[in-house]
Amino acid sequence: MTEATPPEVRLRESLGAIPGYVPGKPAAEQPGRTTYKISSNENPYPPLPSVVKVVQEATLSMNRYPDMGVTELRDAIARRFEVKPEQVATGTGSVGILGSLLQITCEPGDEVVYAWRSFEAYPIVVGLSGATSVQVPLTEESRHDLAAMADAITDRTRLVIVCSPNNPTGPAVRADELDAFLQRVPPHVLVVLDEAYLEFVRADDVPDALNVWRRHPNVAVLRTFSKAYGLAGLRVGYCIAHEPVAEALRKAAVPFGVSEIAQRAAIASLDAYDELDQRVQDIVAERDRLLIGLRDLGYPVPDTQANFVWLPLGDKTLDFAAAAEAAGIVVRPFAGDGVRCTVGEVEATDRLLEVAKEFAGR
Ligand SMILES: *Cc1c(COP(=O)(O)O)cnc(C)c1O
Repeated sequence: MTEATPPEVRLRESLGAIPGYVPGKPAAEQPGRTTYKISSNENPYPPLPSVVKVVQEATLSMNRYPDMGVTELRDAIARRFEVKPEQVATGTGSVGILGSLLQITCEPGDEVVYAWRSFEAYPIVVGLSGATSVQVPLTEESRHDLAAMADAITDRTRLVIVCSPNNPTGPAVRADELDAFLQRVPPHVLVVLDEAYLEFVRADDVPDALNVWRRHPNVAVLRTFSKAYGLAGLRVGYCIAHEPVAEALRKAAVPFGVSEIAQRAAIASLDAYDELDQRVQDIVAERDRLLIGLRDLGYPVPDTQANFVWLPLGDKTLDFAAAAEAAGIVVRPFAGDGVRCTVGEVEATDRLLEVAKEFAGR
């Protein structure tokens, strides 16, 4: 068989400017010791037996399409958060919903405002949609600069994404600053609060997002089962939005995108939340130990309300990542900027602190 000649297919020129998603690297095995992947903000605990059981049962019907309306899961989410099922949309992870949010709000050339550095999926989904990213630098404390974000809104702005806690730096926005910000956002601009790490938040001056959502017709809340719920591999997230927005999201969703297995697992995880919450509390305790340990070593680690810490190492970022990898832990470096380390197993924290200590002494 002869190979086809190189394609002359015309792809969108703008694709060249869109970065690729860099997944956290897996941890390579090392003889004689356990290695740890703390590069993707995953939950280090294996799935609960009760969740595994419903997943196994659901595999028996995978010759069928799932419930396209995601009815039972949307009902369960609605009950849990005291909203209407009509106000819930689901997707293939919250990243899947982000894509839909772009599709329902932006024509090519429209603008999307978000903080930077923030979640690396944002520039990708915005770029793919043909909209324009307007990135507003974080403050010196690696926090959202909501005043500057309000200033960045123009006639072309259709969507603002507020990532709280911010991936990869850690801080959450405060309730008062979010209120002041929302006062300044025109009512036709949709503001999405990306709360992927909500369950790990312990600060008390943070917004109650659903309360904010109830007060603002132009706010939507984006959440996921990937982090605290430990279902990253099943790809299911949800958005709580006012009905026209939620309905548009359901229209734009990939048909049958959330598998029956994922739907069942998400329902079982909502049911088992007390059990999962125990793990979340352990992760939070471990996070605080890691944060204090790193600060004691002199690292200027910003506050974190998530399941990761941020080391703003600048030029030393890749060196630190290499040192960690040599010690059997894989972190997530953002070259020239900093290193994000997920809070995982106790042993991973211990080893990360050892690496950090040695690195500080260099
Ligand atoms: C991990 C993460 C998500 C969740 O992604 P899924 O597609 O639901 O797995 C969303 N937003 C942020 C900021 C994240 O870090």
